[in-house]
Amino acid sequence: MGVIKVLAPEIAQKIAAGEVVERPVSVVKELVENSLDAAATEIKVELLDGGKKLIRVQDNGWGMSQEDAALCFRRYATSKISVEEDLEKIATLGFRGEALASISAVSRLVLKTFNGQEDRGYLVEREGDKLIRFVEISFPQGTMVEVYDLFFNLPARKKFLRSERSELSLVVNYLTQVALAYPEVKFTLSNNNREVINCPGVVSLKDRVYQLYGKKLLDNLMPIDYEEGAYRITGLCSRPFSGRIDRQRQLFFVNRRPVKDRILVAALTQAYLGLLERQKNPEGFFFLEIPYDQVDVNVHPAKAEVRFREPQQVYRLILKAVELGAQQESLIKPIIVEGSEKKEEAEVESGLIPIETQKEVSSKPLSLIEDQKKLELINFRNEEVKRVAEGYPQDRQPFQVLGQYLASYIVATSEEGLLIIDQHNAHERILFEKFEKMEQENSWKSRQMLFPTVLELSPGQRLNYEELKEELEKIGFVLEPMGGNSLALKEYPDFFKEKEASEILLSLLEDNNRDKFKDRRTKLLATMACKSAIKAGQALSLAEMEYLTVELFQTKNPGICPHGRPVIIKIERSRIERAIGRQPE
Ligand code: ADP
Ligand code: MG
Repeated sequence: MGVIKVLAPEIAQKIAAGEVVERPVSVVKELVENSLDAAATEIKVELLDGGKKLIRVQDNGWGMSQEDAALCFRRYATSKISVEEDLEKIATLGFRGEALASISAVSRLVLKTFNGQEDRGYLVEREGDKLIRFVEISFPQGTMVEVYDLFFNLPARKKFLRSERSELSLVVNYLTQVALAYPEVKFTLSNNNREVINCPGVVSLKDRVYQLYGKKLLDNLMPIDYEEGAYRITGLCSRPFSGRIDRQRQLFFVNRRPVKDRILVAALTQAYLGLLERQKNPEGFFFLEIPYDQVDVNVHPAKAEVRFREPQQVYRLILKAVELGAQQESLIKPIIVEGSEKKEEAEVESGLIPIETQKEVSSKPLSLIEDQKKLELINFRNEEVKRVAEGYPQDRQPFQVLGQYLASYIVATSEEGLLIIDQHNAHERILFEKFEKMEQENSWKSRQMLFPTVLELSPGQRLNYEELKEELEKIGFVLEPMGGNSLALKEYPDFFKEKEASEILLSLLEDNNRDKFKDRRTKLLATMACKSAIKAGQALSLAEMEYLTVELFQTKNPGICPHGRPVIIKIERSRIERAIGRQPE
């Protein structure tokens, strides 16, 4: 006798229901999506016990006719698709036509609806698969669905529900995401009659982020908006030098639907290389608009994963959007002067400082530089700058070097305020971009060692050498095996001094994976820049400091070194004045 049995339809349906409905948040998701599809502008979600006892979703959308209210619980009953081609260009959130069927299969459910056109509204009550009541009622236009006792008839499933708190927090996360995607819709959420979310409809994403997260986050975000062909990305994401330690807040939406996808996360990480300090990750809200036939959202029953037809294009979109966004931002890390916070808040509230006042103040001579000695210093500086800066297109440098602090930092002033420049990181940034350019132009020259130096490599270094051999030769390091782990260095890039060369080479072969780099080549150049840059603790002449500063401001990204450390910090003039208690006149 065979052992295979065909399952009874009720059992089959319960199993299928479990695919769509896993826990309260999946019910909330399906119901809220239906409300959005019905063009609701207000969606109210109420829970008891984190949704385990009751989930109630009420909207002010289209509502349903008598016929629809009866049909909507049938499996594959949907108003959103009828022929197969529709699958390709569907714009609504749901179209599998199984949500209501699945939810009602595993709960006691009450639906009330009114479409504003028929005389009355309708109430449908179901328990599991059974219809209990179908009656006329009076009801405001829209739909309300109440789901009681989720999994009352599936004890095995019910056991897997987590604590009230944890089910609730899943719902909060989900609703936060939809609220971000639909700023124009009012969302409220309560649990056991306590309000958890209350977001009246607003006009922009920015307003919504403010409602949900507050001003502090908003201050750390920059807008992005980039379009390429039929693809577009908009949103808000970390300004250079902000970001957070974890990756918790990287929210992606494709055609307004929250999605999780590895490609998107990878693209974002790549996009922010060189914009954030190394322990930081970008955060932000990214909205991709992609033609419906270029993305498949139905690979997953709960529609949380997507498949892009052209992942490369999506990747590029993110890179480009962040790059362009960052170009509008200051690439210098601001630091906060203690004690200036309170006043600053007030300042922001009262609006910006009028430009007139700013000009007036800056045209006055600073008392700091009034004494004779300083003036001499400045004259000398100007001469030097002219000499050093010859060949640079700008006729006016945006800064003035004041001096060196702790033999490690260049102190300068600029329009933005007081600058403190790390001399090592600055030189590293300059060299790195120089190396990149030489590499692109293939202009590395090498020089013969007078006497080849024999290098004893560790097994690890030897292995790295085998891997990097070609790239090393391209930039001018030529070695010859001497047997065992010994190699003779015969040629070196003529950019370096002979006695530096072997030390730099050895550190290139050192394995360290702590830093994030685009690729191996970039890492190589960055390490080389780091090793050959001047060190902290080295006294510099004014001319050298001028030179470094001028060169630094010519680089693409003066604010951050290739290893992700800040190069410059600034104390904004307004902060200095506020901290000192001097009001801008
Ligand atoms: P789908 O959303 O995939 O079509 P559902 O089972 O979620 O399937 O819903 C079935 C149908 O019921 C929908 O196509 C829609 O016509 C109707 N419906 C469900 N919820 C609502 C609502 N909140 N407002 C208006 N109509 C609704
Ligand atoms: Mg649906």
